[in-house]
Amino acid sequence: MDVKQVANERLSWLKWKNIAPLREKLDALDEIDSIHDIGDVIKISGDILDSEKEQIDSLLYDLKPWRKGPFEIFGTFIDTEWNSSIKYNLLERYFDLSNKCVADVGCNNGYYMFRMLKQNPKHIVGFDPSPHYKTQFDFLNRFIKSDIVYELLGIEHIEFYHRKFDVIFCLGVLYHRSDPIKSLKSLKKSLNKNGVLFLDSFIIDGDDHVALTPKKTYSKIPNVYFIPTVVTLINWCKRAGFKNVELLNIKKTDLNEQRHTKWLKGDSLESFLDPNDPNLTIEGYPAPKRAYIKALI
Ligand code: SAH
Repeated sequence: MDVKQVANERLSWLKWKNIAPLREKLDALDEIDSIHDIGDVIKISGDILDSEKEQIDSLLYDLKPWRKGPFEIFGTFIDTEWNSSIKYNLLERYFDLSNKCVADVGCNNGYYMFRMLKQNPKHIVGFDPSPHYKTQFDFLNRFIKSDIVYELLGIEHIEFYHRKFDVIFCLGVLYHRSDPIKSLKSLKKSLNKNGVLFLDSFIIDGDDHVALTPKKTYSKIPNVYFIPTVVTLINWCKRAGFKNVELLNIKKTDLNEQRHTKWLKGDSLESFLDPNDPNLTIEGYPAPKRAYIKALI
């Protein structure tokens, strides 16, 4: 597969009729001097004119939904649906990215990749086929000015990519794949010798070697295919060829981590759960819980 060609072809997605007006607004922004501070909240600040602030706030509004963050942009707090600092901080203690080639598969608007800059990796490449989230990334990176590469490619392309990686993050993606073991094999092929994969997945409780397959939706999400027990998730990793698979943590999703905010379009966790029993999703499945895994080849 010639993924360079796929990536180039996909640049035309930025001309879709829902994306093109965002790109035009982004291109029309004035050159603004700014500084940034990367912490739990990624902050971009600087002295700007009222007219520039209006231009930026209007684009921020048009760029909804903001799912991953939070960000503070010239004084405007973007209280994203997810407080992504919770997942990032949970994992950060397990990795050292200095001088490493890093991939973030399903990188969304790049929140984690911007956080990773602090560890001075050699390269960061984000894979995500969403032109909307790429536009959020391009907006943020216009001020942060990192050399992170954002490819409009998916997990299905990574093994054919021209670069291999020392560390791959694949967070919040695996249960969206109808072929999780194939996806894991593809991630394995994309790692350099001594490479490491950080993975998270929804899981169900239990010790059986099984996975839940939602009939239609899970927590109102339509494209969720398999929700394994932890042991099944580990089995998948081993069957994909990972040698050493370690469970780092298990965490139930709560309203601190995911909830409705004004930066979203549509519902969030509070309406995904059974109103009479927060331990169940609206469909009657066990409520969202994630396992965090580190896998070595
Ligand atoms: N990694 C982030 C975001 C998870 S949301 C986190 O853990 O918080 C899932 C992301 O996967 C979305 O940004 C979505 O656009 C992206 N995605 C959709 N299809 C994909 C594919 N085929 N390969 C990789 N990412 C994909």
